[in-house]
Amino acid sequence: MGEIVLAADLGGTNLRMAAVRRDGEILSTSRKRTPRSDTGERLLKEIIYAVNECRQQLTGYEFGPVCLAVPATVDARKGVVVKAPNLPELNGFCLSSELRNKLGAQVILENDANAAALGENWLGASQGIENSIMVTLGTGVGGGIVIGGKILRGPDGTAGEIGHINVEPNGHQCGCGSQGCLEQYASATAVVRMAKEIVAEKPNSKFAEKTYITSEDLYELGISGDAEAKKVFERQGFYLGLALSGLINSLNPEAIVFGGGAAAGWDLFMPALRSEIEKRTYLTPAERVKLFRSELGDDAGILGAAHLGFENIARN
Ligand SMILES: [Zn+2]
Repeated sequence: MGEIVLAADLGGTNLRMAAVRRDGEILSTSRKRTPRSDTGERLLKEIIYAVNECRQQLTGYEFGPVCLAVPATVDARKGVVVKAPNLPELNGFCLSSELRNKLGAQVILENDANAAALGENWLGASQGIENSIMVTLGTGVGGGIVIGGKILRGPDGTAGEIGHINVEPNGHQCGCGSQGCLEQYASATAVVRMAKEIVAEKPNSKFAEKTYITSEDLYELGISGDAEAKKVFERQGFYLGLALSGLINSLNPEAIVFGGGAAAGWDLFMPALRSEIEKRTYLTPAERVKLFRSELGDDAGILGAAHLGFENIARN
């Protein structure tokens, strides 16, 4: 019945696992809360459980590698999680070898935004495009750069950290240790913080009465014409435009794909973003680059991880 790859998207909140066919069709999925503990052992057990559950559901298939998209810098060659700010129990964890020993299968690790970039490049918005950039706007800002059809990792696996491009020299403190990073102005978390900053300045703004604001609430307000909410998304677009202009000038990408929950604010942040690109980039690359919304949504990371699995099968 052919080969399938088990691919997982390990997030700070959920662990999603899927069995993926070579043509990209997802045959079965599972979703569990990501178990948290001081060490990676509980997480390891949960991944093993999810893999075995998937294997039992599908009989008659030949299983290829197990592929994991993780919210971390990874050393893909050694299979080690280098730094996972939202899952620090995995810092330095040899996830590949631990899982390989227990599952009897090859294990492939990839950074989640890199995996999403590969997924979109395989079956989504940047399909067939050789040079593209993926920006994921979620709790943080992730990035994946595809050059000549291959993900750019760099010798340490840290390339593509678009969220930590500086856009304000003395700006808001960032979790990476620096300050003024794009993540602090363009993530869903940043959108909410910037709204709170406006409330502090203008206590009569519409969202001042809410004790808990989400980026979705702000989007609804902005779409209905609220000037203060619109201002928040304009700021988000401005900072994204600033960082992406630098990437357009330096990398000459054919496409930039926007994913993650906060990409839902597209209608409100895109005018400011486009205006910055127009102001700050060379004409030729600016005319070439297309801006797309993700087509695969939550499945981009899983499909990108699965694609790495199939590439690995083809090589061996
Ligand atoms: Zn940073």
